[in-house]
This record gives sequence, structure tokens and C-alpha cells, in this order.
Amino acid sequence: MEHLLSPEHRAFRDELRSFVEREIPKNVARAAEAAGPDYPLHLFDKLARAGYHATAVPTEYGGHGADMLTQLIQARELARSLAGMVWIWGMTSFAGANSIGLYGTEAQKREFLPRIARGDMRVTIGFTEPGGGTDVLGAMTTTAQKVSGGWVVNGVKKWCTSAHVSDRILLLARTDKDVQRKSDGVTLFLLDPKSEGVSLEALSPLGMRGLGTFLMELRDVFVPDDMVVGEPGRAWRMLLPTLTNERVLVLGTCTGILDGVLEDALAYVSTREAFGRRLGDLQAVQHHVANIAIAQYQTELIAYEAARRADAGEDTFMAVTMGKIIASEHAAAGADLGIQVMGGQGYSTETDMQRYWRDARLMRFSPVNNEMARNLVAERLGLARSF
Ligand SMILES: Cc1cc2nc3c(=O)[nH]c(=O)nc-3n(C[C@H](O)[C@H](O)[C@H](O)COP(=O)(O)OP(=O)(O)OC[C@H]3O[C@@H](n4cnc5c(N)ncnc54)[C@H](O)[C@@H]3O)c2cc1C
Repeated sequence: MEHLLSPEHRAFRDELRSFVEREIPKNVARAAEAAGPDYPLHLFDKLARAGYHATAVPTEYGGHGADMLTQLIQARELARSLAGMVWIWGMTSFAGANSIGLYGTEAQKREFLPRIARGDMRVTIGFTEPGGGTDVLGAMTTTAQKVSGGWVVNGVKKWCTSAHVSDRILLLARTDKDVQRKSDGVTLFLLDPKSEGVSLEALSPLGMRGLGTFLMELRDVFVPDDMVVGEPGRAWRMLLPTLTNERVLVLGTCTGILDGVLEDALAYVSTREAFGRRLGDLQAVQHHVANIAIAQYQTELIAYEAARRADAGEDTFMAVTMGKIIASEHAAAGADLGIQVMGGQGYSTETDMQRYWRDARLMRFSPVNNEMARNLVAERLGLARSF
């Protein structure tokens, strides 16, 4: 599929691939994940030194202003070694660079975007609540009340990834209950998690372990007026490009996971022997490996197409929504087959296959679950809204 990439995209990919092989090879990735919720700051810093936090930041604020295809490539190459690396860069990129770049004030852009580009700042996202992440607006109990000079926030957010090392949380809170549609009356804030009244409790997820993810309680937390992002009350309508950016990174993550799965499965079945033959000589094993390659091929195609549409300014809704379903289901099924052909070794923490599976499994229900994504596809096809 090289022809889908320009010479510049190929050069970017090749440079990043050698960076990952040199700086974040799979044994380093494995150790970072095994360290649990400590967060691999050293890996964040490696990306900073190499300039990869600047990828999506607009050039006028010190970034590279890269297109969506470049961001997709970055996610893919990082995920080939460690899917969590995508979010070590990508969380700040889509939640910070994208949202501040699109809806921030000039002062916010000047304050935050150069810091993001330099790798001096981390941003995460606080949308989901204990009451639910799919019906995020219906479940939302977090409120922000206007006071002199700012807002007072109360509520609880769940699964706030890397909140313990973040400088700002892109927080969604209800600022007006008196609305006809629940998508109205919600506002985005850049909340400092070190503010008085914020407390974090570590959660223990199956995958993406190295990032750390938290239950975050907010008790009378003051957020100044200049930390509101965009127009108060209209956050939900603004967020579409940010969520599209996130979906493209998910597509890159799934493609990268499948790259890792395929190369590890191939390497294993090419050397391991059973009944006097290499595993890779057995037809059933070959079919499993072929199915992984087919999944990778389809995922790569849909991922490139989604990024191409985004860069061409075309409607991306179906491409990213259907793409997210295809990519996450292929990545989880591909990693599952990878475990199958590697047997006990695939299930062992000595190898990466089980980690690929754990990380891929998340993508089937997050950031949006595949049932809800199918609802959205059906609605776009003209069927009645089912939720
Ligand atoms: C490791 C990890 C990291 C995360 N990081 C973040 C983060 O940084 N910030 C953040 O805000 N959130 C984060 N999340 C939250 C994530 O986005 C949610 O888990 C996801 O949106 C699903 O919400 P839920 O878990 O509340 O499931 P629910 O909303 O309770 O849904 C459960 C299941 O019900 C089904 N379902 C729900 N609604 C429908 C429907 N309308 N039609 C059909 N089926 C339906 C689906 O099968 C769904 O998987 C993270 C989650 C995890 C596990």
C-alpha cells in the first residue's frame, strides 16, 4: 500500500520506525507496561526530544502542523511496539492540541500550544462518569456553577487516563440544566488536576496498564474563566472534529497492533516445531496467520481512507465510525489468533501477544462501543435513532 503514501509520508514513517526500533523496542515497551500505573515519563521525554509531540500542533504555535495521515502513521508506528505510546502522545494531541487549536482563545493557544509542541505539557480527557460512558450526556452529574471570575465544579469522572501526570484535563461538565436537548448546556474546561478539591483514586484496567487511569472526584473545584474552552454551553457541538481526530488515532493504534501481531506470529511459527515440522508448515496454522494478514490489510485500507477523507475535507463520519468498528474487531480477533498460534507463549507475559490482545480489546468498547457505533451507522443510513 506504499502508493497511498506520498514520499514525505514514507520518509516520516521510515524515520519514526527506526526511532521506535532504537528507542522503544518491544522489550522496553514490555517493561514500561509491567511497571503499572507509574507512567513512563522517560518515554514521553524521548518523544519530546525527537519532536514527536509537535506533530499535530499548528506551525504558527511551534508545531509541525501535520495532516491526519501523518498522525495516523505516528499512531501506527508507536502501537506496533506499545499501543499505550499512542496515548502518551495522542491524548495531549487530540484533547489538547486539536481542541485548543480549534476552539481555544488566542491567549490559550499562545499559552498551551507551544508547550504541547515542546513536550512540556500533558492533557487528558475527563468525559466518562461512573454512571456511564456511552450515554455520557444522560449519565453526567458533574456540574459547573458560574461564580465571580470563574466556575465551581462538582462531580465524579471515571477512567481519567494519566490524570496523575497531566497538567490539564479537558473536562466536560453541565453548566445549564434548563435545556431541551441534553447535548445543550455542557461546557469544556481545562482543569488543573492539582487544583484544591481534586482527588484521584487509581483503577486497575486489563490493558494500557502503563498509562494509569483514575476515578477523579471534584469537590468545589474552582476553574477560572480563562480556562473555559470555546463557547459555554455549546461544547457538544464543537467536539466533533476532536472526536474524529481521536477515532483516526484509534484506527492507527489498531493497525499498529496488527502489525505487531503479524510479525510476532510469523516469527514464532517460523521457528517453533511440532511433530518434526515447523508450526508454520501446518495448514491450520497457516490459515490463522493468513487471517491475521487479511485483518491487517483491511484495517490498513480503511485507516488510510479515513485519514485521506479527513485531509481532503470530505465527510468522515461513516469512514471513521465504520472504520473504528472494523479496526477494533480485527485487532482484537487478530491478537486472539496470535495467542492461538503461539499457544502458552502467546499467553505469557514474557511475550507481547497477550498485551496486544489486552490493548486491542479495549478498542471494541472505547472510546465509543461498537454497538453504539453501529447505531450511528444505521441512523446515517436513514433508520430511526435507536438510542
Ligand atoms: C482503560 C480505559 C481508559 C479510558 N480512558 C478514558 C479517558 O481518558 N477519559 C474518558 O473520559 N473516558 C475514558 N474511558 C472510558 C471509556 O470511554 C468508556 O469505558 C466507554 O465510553 C464505554 O462506557 P462505559 O464503560 O460506561 O460502558 P456503558 O456505557 O455502561 O456501556 C456498556 C455496554 O453496553 C452496551 N451499550 C451501551 N449503550 C448502548 C446502546 N445505545 N446500544 C447498544 N449497546 C449499548 C455496549 O455493549 C457497551 O459496551 C476509558 C476506559 C478504559 C477502560
